Formats: sequence, C-alpha cells, structure tokens
Amino acid sequence: MADPVLSRLHLCISGTVQGVGFRPFVHRLALELELGGWVQNRSGTVWIALEGDAAPLADFCARVIRDAPPLARPQIQHQHSEPLLIARRGFAILPSRSDEIADIHLPADTHLCADCRRELFDPQDRRYRYPFINCTQCGPRYTLIAGLPYDRPRTSMAAFPLCPACEAEYRDPHNRRFHAEPVACPACGPQLAWRGASTAAREAALQAALGALRGGEIIAVRGVGGYHLMTDACNEDAVARLRLRKQRPARPFAVLFDERGEDGAAMLRRFLQPSAEELRLLRSPQRPIVLAAQAEPALLAASIAPGMPRIGAMLPHSPLQALLSEGFGGPLLATSGNLSGEPICLDPHEAEARLGRIADGFLHHDRPILRPAEDGVWQVFGARATPIRIGRGEAPQAWRLAKPLAQPTLALGGEQKVCIALGWGDRAVVSPHIGDLAHPESLDWLARVVADFTRLYQVAPRQIALDAHPQYRSREWARATGLPCIQIWHHHAHASALAAEHPDVHQWLCLSWDGVGLGPDGSLWGGECLLGAPGHWQRVARLRPFRLPGGEAASREGWRSAAGMLWEAGRTAPLWHPQIDTLHAAWQRGLNSPPTSAIGRLFDGAAALLGICLEASFEGEGPMRLQALAETVDHGPRWPVAWRKNEGLWELDWASWLDGLLDEHVGKAHRAWALHDALARALPALIERLALPQSLALGGCGGVFQNALLVSRLAAQGLDVILPQRQPANDGGLALGQLIEVSAGAPLTPCRA
Ligand SMILES: [Zn+2]
Ligand SMILES: [Zn+2]
Repeated sequence: MADPVLSRLHLCISGTVQGVGFRPFVHRLALELELGGWVQNRSGTVWIALEGDAAPLADFCARVIRDAPPLARPQIQHQHSEPLLIARRGFAILPSRSDEIADIHLPADTHLCADCRRELFDPQDRRYRYPFINCTQCGPRYTLIAGLPYDRPRTSMAAFPLCPACEAEYRDPHNRRFHAEPVACPACGPQLAWRGASTAAREAALQAALGALRGGEIIAVRGVGGYHLMTDACNEDAVARLRLRKQRPARPFAVLFDERGEDGAAMLRRFLQPSAEELRLLRSPQRPIVLAAQAEPALLAASIAPGMPRIGAMLPHSPLQALLSEGFGGPLLATSGNLSGEPICLDPHEAEARLGRIADGFLHHDRPILRPAEDGVWQVFGARATPIRIGRGEAPQAWRLAKPLAQPTLALGGEQKVCIALGWGDRAVVSPHIGDLAHPESLDWLARVVADFTRLYQVAPRQIALDAHPQYRSREWARATGLPCIQIWHHHAHASALAAEHPDVHQWLCLSWDGVGLGPDGSLWGGECLLGAPGHWQRVARLRPFRLPGGEAASREGWRSAAGMLWEAGRTAPLWHPQIDTLHAAWQRGLNSPPTSAIGRLFDGAAALLGICLEASFEGEGPMRLQALAETVDHGPRWPVAWRKNEGLWELDWASWLDGLLDEHVGKAHRAWALHDALARALPALIERLALPQSLALGGCGGVFQNALLVSRLAAQGLDVILPQRQPANDGGLALGQLIEVSAGAPLTPCRA
C-alpha cells in the first residue's frame, strides 16, 4: 500500500472574504480536517497555505466554498500545490499584509445577528444591554473601516483597546468572536451619552432617551451610519412638531417597529399589512426601509405619511435600535438626522449644531462613524423587490462588468439622489446614497467618498464620467480634478443601469420615463423609448413635447407643467399665478420655456389639473399624490391612445387626455386612474407600430417606474416589463449606468472647457 501523499496547497481566495468571519472559519475547518498551515488577509484577498494528505486537502477546497459563513462570498482565485516531506503542526492566523495587487471587497454593515440579540437581552450575559455588541457575523463594517486589510487597528475601534475578557474571545478559535474586529464589551468598548435637559451616560443615557420619547419629545440618536431623528410614531403632536421643525410639511417619514413574536413582525402587523415578500425584505440582513400598506384602522399618527397608502417600515438593525424599540414598546418614527436633502449628520458636535433646533435631546455614542450610510429603501411590485435608495447594509455594491473598462473610471451620477461609482477592469463598486448636490455639504461628502474609495480600493481613476447637463454641480468639481471628463446622456445612463443587471440581453426596448434629464437634442427628455443596448441607444419614440413656462421652476411648481400642457393644446390656463398673462406671452416667444417630453412633468401637470398638488413640498410629490389617489379605485374611463409620427419619431399625444383630466363629472380618483391606464395601454400600440421582433426585452427605467400602479397596469396589458432589481430606477442608478456606457464604448463626448 502506498504511503499517503503529503502536499502543501496554496489558495488565494477572493470575493467578499474580509469582515465576515472568514479567517476564523478557515481556522476551524483546517483544525477539523487536521491540516497544518496558515491563513492571512492581504489587500482584499485571503491567502491560505495548507499542509496534509490529499483527501482532506480536497475536502477543504470543497468546504471552504460550500460551508463559508453566511455573509462571505468566496471564490478560489488561484491555487497550486507542491509535494512535501514533512507537514508542520498547527494552523495559524498570520498578521495581515498589504500587497501591491489589490482585489478589494469592502464589507457592508450587518444587522444584529440572532446570537448577539439573545445575549443582548440575557441578564446573565456580560454584554447584557450593551448597545455595541457584535461578532464575526454582525456589526458595523463599511462605516468604521479606515483602511484595508480589515483589522481592528485600521477601524474606528482602534481607539478602544480590548479588555482581557474580549482579548481572550478574540484569540480563541472556538469562540464566535474569534477575530471579530469590532468586538467590544461594556468594560472596554464605546458607550452612550445623553445630552438633553440633563446629561447621563451608559444605561442611564438610554433610559433618559426612552423617557424623552415617552414624553413625546424628539430625539437625535447616533446610529451606525449617522444620526436618526426619532419620536413616538403614534403621537400626532410630536410628529407634527417634527414636521414643523424639520420644515418638511408632507414628505413621508419611516417607522421603526420592535422585533417581536416568532417571525419578528408581531408588532409591525398591528399597524401594517406586509406581503410575504415585503416581510422577507424587512427581515433580510440589510434591514432596509420597506414600503408596506397600512392596516385598518390606521393606528399610526396620520401625519407620518399624509395621503399615502404605504408606510416606510423597518425592523431594528443595530443593538442600539433593538434596545430603543424594545424599551419604548411602540413604533418609533425614525428619519435621517439631517435638514431636507442635506447629508446625514455623523458626529456629535455637528449633530448638535445642525439639529439643535429640531431635537430636544441627543443620544450620542463615542464610536466614530467614518462615512455616512443612510437606510436603504425598497418596495415590492407583485413578487419583485426593487430598490428606491441603496443604503446601509447594501453598499458598497459590487458589480462585474460585462465589458471591461479600458481605463479606471469614476462616475458621478446626476444632481439629485447622488451616488458615485468607481470602475476598473471588469469591476465596479457603487457608493450608498450621498444626497442632493443643491446642498454644498453633499458635494463635500461626494469628494470624501471619492477619496475614500480610491484609497481603499487602491484605484486611481484616469477619467470621469458625468451627466451631460452643464449646470449639474458635480461638473465643476470634476473639472477641478484635471482629469478628462466624458459626458453621458442622462437617459442613456438610466437604460444602461438597467442593462447592467441583464448582461445576457442583447437588444432592448427601454422605456426611460423620468423627471427631466438633458437629451442630445438639447430638450428635456423623460418620456423616451430607447432601442438598442449600452453604448448604442437609439430613440424611437417619445411623449409629445410641451414647453415649461419658467423652465427649472416647473420642477417644484406643477401648475407650470399644467399651464404648458394647456397652452400647447391651444387652451387657456386658470389664474394660477398673478402674472400668468406675462408668463404666457414669454412662453409664446419661447423665453425661458424649454421643451420637455418627460412623463414626470406630465404627471406633475395632471396633479395640478386635478387640483391635488399645485406646488410640491418635496421632489416627486405631484406624481406620488396622483398615484395614491388613483390607487383608491380600481377602474376609470378608457381614454384614447394616439401615436403620431413626427420628425421620424413616434410621439404619444396626451392632448386628447386634457378633456378627461378636466371632466368634473368623473371623480378625481377615476381620472387619476385613467391616466395611468392610458399610458400603459399606449405601449402595446407602440410595439405594434415599431414592428419589433418578439424576442426583444422590454425594460422600464427612470423614476416613473417607482409607480406601482403604472407597473401593474402594464402587467394588465400582458407586458412583462423588466425593472431594475439591484440599483434604483431613479437617478440613484445613474452612476452605474454612466460606467456601463463608458465600458460599452459609448461615443465619447468630452466636456467643453
Ligand atoms: Zn452577532
Ligand atoms: Zn471588553
């Protein structure tokens, strides 16, 4: 019988393998299979050397992938083996090493795991009620990593030396906190501090915060990726006070529910009626905000989401949120701690300075937050989930590009809902939501996230892709970098972001329905049908254009869209403005009244014509109110659909819908429903006229595709519209789409100096 053959096997493992308990798992597996050797973090990859017999080595290779910890996504990048005479004993975790070649994956922040949750509420446990409990399977990552490889000295936990008890757990391969980098306990880790009418620390700070909440006060709570403002979600006075102080009259607030009962949703179900898919998302490790219908009767304060049928709900993602919601015992309004559209506050001084007029008290902690991560927001259409905002727990989002980039490229997205994307080779990463660039702080954060990404991923961009709109604020910043800038058309980027999710589709008919974005013909696009694929989009149809009196002002003042539609159709507009005649005269002469084909503006105009939203207090309010109203009924009149050919394009004419919109014999809800229905019925008629092959994939992108009623009416036409399921349909998806356009060889239009 031959002797067992000893060999040494070297494995290089890439993918998501840092910050997810991968090295401890490798250690345990090697000990179990009685293999010697070592494991080491290098920049972005994990290197393993194993010594032993052939059979356990083969076993190891299979199990290192199959049995990896839930958060890990390992791939064996390469491996080689060599014969060996004598195997060493024991298996070691070597100190991390920075390497020249980087294949870096930055882990996302992860919600409180079930094991830590059990300890958190176990009076016998030494971390009982400790708000910063975590393990290899849970806790902050993205928001506390200062550098890679991911090790405690390169996190914001570096300032908290481990106590002997934590140190022992950290060094014990059989402990579930073995090499948990943010490990901490009440003796050595971060602590809470309360600043309100009084001050308090630790458990007393938590109790002071709970007391303030019970008293109907508004508090600011430092979380994982920034501050939240919180108050009693059933207290109408408190919610109204928050609206007044935050100057946020109508935009819906999200609600945090305590995790109770067998499936964690017992409290939530008293207030909401989540579908199975909504519940799955609510309980997913990312713990995003998920839109779900209110239960009857509505028990939350009416001003949480005035006039909206769905509530943004979430379950606790951090131990601090778990303690707060458990201690409060009822739903808590939880909204980003910022002023409207600004980036979220991260540190205590900044929070007290910026939120001092809003919050009655502050629940701080002393674990630094290195970069912001707001809550992600998702909704479900039928059985399909689609993101509205990518946030904490989901970002940075990693992509493999179907076509590699010739040069490392930075993409800056648009003007609102900005995310950035960094691409190199066939890889791309997308940041979480940063904010709207109308606020100078957002531009500062954009710059910091760019600096962070280029440093952490060790990628120096050689060019910048940005929106073609000359007035978007990121353009000036991009120019100042001195890098070549490439402009990408807004709606091409939308379509390409969707296409990125389906690299197997070669030909699309993509509906890019949106607010407004600059198109190659200089008009404001947003109701376009694009044929083709990334890099080669051809417009084949659009909404009949109308001109917007006052241009930009129409984005907030829906009556301007309505006036533009009425005038375009040769009608008169009501006295919506004291100088409406002067406006009309200017409009007739084409002064400051750019043409648009945007469905978003058509919805704005319709909401104004129905008198439900003449002026929006937040972006998208008109269309949201129109949808909410339409969803109160399930039918309406069938308006005629008319496609006409104009300048080589098929144009959907909305002019005949004005009679329907203004018909006071029909209820407003039925009229709102009819508009959704007419738009959906227009599609089969277009597809027939275009005589396109059956095999063509039909896609929907742009902010309009967040409208669940429109999507369901399209489905009722028998149309299977493919919607984005990883990146938002709205402008949050632009940065990724810009990278895809560049990688697909879109005709490059350098920015003019
Ligand atoms: Zn845990
Ligand atoms: Zn400790």
